[in-house]
Amino acid sequence: MNDKTILVIDDSRLVLEMIATLLEDEGFNVLQASNSPAGVELARRHCPDLVICDIMMPVMDGYGVLATLRSDPVTAAIPFIFLTAKASRAEIRQGMNVGADDYLTKPFEFQELLDAVYARFQRHKTVSDHFGAELARAEKELEYLMQHDHLTGLPNRSRLEVQLELALRITPTNLLVGILGIDLDRFQNINDALGLATGDQVLKSIAKRLRGFARGDDRVFHIAGNEFTVLIAGAANRSAFEEAAQQVLDCIAEPIPCETREIHITASVGIGIYTVEVEEAGALLRHAEMAMTEVKQRGGNNYLFYRPDFQARAVDRLALESSLYRAIRENELSLAYQPQVAAQTGRIIGMEALLRWTSGEHGSVPPLHFIPLAESNGLIVPIGRWVLRQACLFRLSLVDVLRDTDRVAVNISGRQLKEPDFVRDLFRVLEETGLPPEALELELTESILMKNELRTIGALEECRAAGISIAIDDFGTGYSSLSYLKTFPLDRIKIDKSFIDDVTTDANDAAIASAIISIARGLEIESVAEGVEHEAQLNKLKKLGCNIIQGYYFSRPLQPHDFMEFLDRQLPCPPREGSFRP
Ligand code: C2E
Ligand code: CA
Ligand code: CA
Repeated sequence: MNDKTILVIDDSRLVLEMIATLLEDEGFNVLQASNSPAGVELARRHCPDLVICDIMMPVMDGYGVLATLRSDPVTAAIPFIFLTAKASRAEIRQGMNVGADDYLTKPFEFQELLDAVYARFQRHKTVSDHFGAELARAEKELEYLMQHDHLTGLPNRSRLEVQLELALRITPTNLLVGILGIDLDRFQNINDALGLATGDQVLKSIAKRLRGFARGDDRVFHIAGNEFTVLIAGAANRSAFEEAAQQVLDCIAEPIPCETREIHITASVGIGIYTVEVEEAGALLRHAEMAMTEVKQRGGNNYLFYRPDFQARAVDRLALESSLYRAIRENELSLAYQPQVAAQTGRIIGMEALLRWTSGEHGSVPPLHFIPLAESNGLIVPIGRWVLRQACLFRLSLVDVLRDTDRVAVNISGRQLKEPDFVRDLFRVLEETGLPPEALELELTESILMKNELRTIGALEECRAAGISIAIDDFGTGYSSLSYLKTFPLDRIKIDKSFIDDVTTDANDAAIASAIISIARGLEIESVAEGVEHEAQLNKLKKLGCNIIQGYYFSRPLQPHDFMEFLDRQLPCPPREGSFRP
């Protein structure tokens, strides 16, 4: 008997049964799907050890199936073999480009099929042996932790994003996909009046009810504190959403027994439905959120569909946007630098450049307000160029004080990387400023890598080949597919501050931090902890084996002049020849 499960997807029943019989004779467990949506669903549910899939199929072809599986962390790493009827070179190349592991051309000999299958398992085995069983376990655990809320056990926001993308891809176009954004009204009052433990109790009860209401996995998500989301895929019309929203309100309004009392709570529900104008899953989430905020402002305990005029705040945005256009010209931008310190020795090994904007009209504007704006209107491209040059010049000015390998890290947004000239511009800045590439690091968020555009990857590989380091920023907050980490050449993983905040008190956060650190070690790259504010956090992270520490504990981001002073205080002056220092 063989403990491997193989999923076969082919719209020809005959081929399906033939392959299934053959593989079952070999002792494999075989799952069969005669269309692509069913195949994707089976893969997601059973996570088979191998997928064999036809290319030519109605609804979604084999390339679509592969792309869908690769975009979901749960199924991303499953080996994949294509079956093609005609072995056109272009077809095979396209298959391999989208990440297939092998292909078979029909008609094929049974032995060919078996050879391909066994070759996959052999290959897969060496890969997992290489990373070690320990590491594999850490990864599995991390993947689960990162995709579920630890209080309610419901899948969380990153899981929702994956499921939503999937729903948009596989739902027939005549049916609707949408979400209900649910926010409990005045929840803070419960926490304040009855304590956090009771608040948690209430969240758990509501999670349980919502799960019962939605029936089925991956329909209800716990997004944050008192926010939940229900995903509805395949509804016939808008009234199906209204009905669902009303049911959600009713099921939350049921009194919650809590020790000697009953707690009454209501919710605000915002409904976002996918249309062609929405364009992407992220926009759908924002729509539901905007509608929910509107309900709240009208007193809560109700639901509303999203309407474009909810975007009224866009007015402020516009004012900010027009000032931002002047920011570079009027010299309103500056960079602050935050030291990064080696955990074991306490030595400064680099710094992160962080953008600051002091606007004539709006005063000091936090980066989290204006950077998303600059990304959406493209201004981040010229701004990013300015940041890069500035950071390189500053790093160069420290050439006598820092070691050659001490880096300045610059945040790069996805929008910048998409520019066809990104690499050329970057190399030009290095050339013009004279900064060695080894002294520069680029920080990218996971989502940029996950999009996995060939050009992006190519650009980053070029940078890396030149000696520039690459770090993944905010690790753990986004999509977090670990299989991509392995395939992508990286130098550093930055553990997001949200896991560091309670690393000394919350076992779950400590487990995540620890798993990320061990994965980094397994990949032979460094881990960086962000947002370290207390000595206790530092000690814990040292114990877990984290390499680099960044955070207010050592220093806030500093203006260049203050950064120099900080360096003076931290570093003993390099001894000059012949000079004596006590
Ligand atoms: P980030 O890259 O995750 O940067 C770290 C943020 O955490 C910074 O916020 C930093 O000031 C803050 N921080 C560091 N240590 C601590 C700590 O111990 N406690 C607390 N509470 N906070 C800490 P900041 O400067 O507001 O930047 C926010 C975000 O803006 C950055 O997050 C980054 O995503 C973006 N950003 C900043 N500069 C640039 C830039 O030049 N280009 C691009 N594309 N994005 C930038
Ligand atoms: Ca960063
Ligand atoms: Ca970060």
